[in-house]
Amino acid sequence: MPEFVDTSPPGECIFCRLIAGEIPASRLYEDAETLAFLDLAQLNPGHALVVVKRHAETLLELTPDEAAAAMRTAHRIAAAQQRAFGAPGLTLLQCNGKEGGQTVGHFHIHVVPRHADDGVGLLWPRKDPPRAVLEATAAQLRAALED
Ligand SMILES: [Zn+2]
Repeated sequence: MPEFVDTSPPGECIFCRLIAGEIPASRLYEDAETLAFLDLAQLNPGHALVVVKRHAETLLELTPDEAAAAMRTAHRIAAAQQRAFGAPGLTLLQCNGKEGGQTVGHFHIHVVPRHADDGVGLLWPRKDPPRAVLEATAAQLRAALED
């Protein structure tokens, strides 16, 4: 998980300031709803962030159109990364809330070109529940989808 945590005071979100041009960034692409720029951490060369321009903390605070715009931009950046660096792999990472690993409270997607043995990792603690538990969980979610 990222180690940087934005400690900006409320109303002074670091990504809003970056979008406004108040702090420097290596900008890659911009459209009406999104901006893409290089992440300072550079897990691999070309590691980019896609943000929505409107301040929204998490995925659930985006409109469906903003969410679609963010993924369109991530797709565009990923294709450019592959052309530029030839990375055989790609990881998208989008974290929400402290418990979800979010360290800057402004919606963003990491777009990370991946290479063999690049040292980037993700813990994936499988629980492998039995079929009955899967079905009960699916029923719970289907009911929530109808709300
Ligand atoms: Zn913001």
